[in-house]
Amino acid sequence: MNFNKCARCGCFYITDGAVCPSCTPKDKNDISKLKTFFDDNTAQVTVNELSAATGISQKNLSRYISEKGFEYKKQIKL
Ligand SMILES: [Zn+2]
Repeated sequence: MNFNKCARCGCFYITDGAVCPSCTPKDKNDISKLKTFFDDNTAQVTVNELSAATGISQKNLSRYISEKGFEYKKQIKL
């Protein structure tokens, strides 16, 4: 059996994905905040600015940005 370590809370779990089942809704919530933010902002932002505007931690933002298929990558100033 394969155990994964949750990127959010650090607990171990056996399902797929970067976070455990109890953190999955928190990730979804963050992603919907990002969607709302980028719907209103077309300018490029740094991870710092994005974190301040959305309240999402830089650690979690970096994780979303590095995920395959992150649709707002071109709006992030790296
Ligand atoms: Zn977790």
